Amino acid sequence: SMPSYKWQRVLLKVSGEALAGDRLQNIDPKVTMAIAREVAAVTRLGIEVAIVVGGGNIFRGSSWAGSSGLDRSSADYIGMLATVMNAIFLQATMESIGIPTRVQTAFRMSEVAEPYIRRRAVRHLEKGRVVIFAAGTGNPFFTTDTAAALRCAEINAEVLLKATNVDGVYDDDPRQNPNARLLETLTYQEVTSKDLSVMDMTAITLCQENNIPVVVFNLTKPDNISKAIKGERVGTLIGG
Ligand code: UDP
Repeated sequence: SMPSYKWQRVLLKVSGEALAGDRLQNIDPKVTMAIAREVAAVTRLGIEVAIVVGGGNIFRGSSWAGSSGLDRSSADYIGMLATVMNAIFLQATMESIGIPTRVQTAFRMSEVAEPYIRRRAVRHLEKGRVVIFAAGTGNPFFTTDTAAALRCAEINAEVLLKATNVDGVYDDDPRQNPNARLLETLTYQEVTSKDLSVMDMTAITLCQENNIPVVVFNLTKPDNISKAIKGERVGTLIGG
């Protein structure tokens, strides 16, 4: 019989910053290839993987709004388009090593990718395809972390795996304080009350209200993505 893992269906959130790696270019192909390889390994085990990509490596709406008369909504639409670029890059990388992958966008770009259709996304996952959700929630004033929480709830994924460049959540800034401790577990309450910058309030609240556990982990460490997807202990687990 098939070995069973902790999760059957996961939502992996990859930030734009993580995709950039240590390169000056927007995307580091070593990072996308590492993601593709690790995701390939777990899909072969039968675990269903959906991905939400960020866009901060290319454009972050909030940091542009206001400059040169750019209103927040316009800036955010540019930010959402940035996530589509990352999604297509990641899809092409995954397909280059043989993983069937579909991109679904929150607003229509039918020549480029499928529109987001929940039931179709679930069907792809059941067939063993990876689904990449792009363009965030499709709405300005939101983040891709919120999109990750939303899609996670919609497709009934059991966990939100937030891949970052740091090992997890610390009790202080590890770059400033060498004694900062990595926290292995946290409650939603602790995340919001201590204002630990894990994800924005909208995203963490959505997870809390829907009892979605969140794992914050470092994607730059070899095998960490596959470990996180297989439910092995990595980073910080946020839950009830
Ligand atoms: N964005 C948005 N609505 C969403 C998701 C994203 O308007 O639902 C825009 C927003 O401008 C954001 C940008 O897209 O700054 C890139 O997303 P995000 O900053 O969440 O990417 P990450 O930090 O994960 O790289």
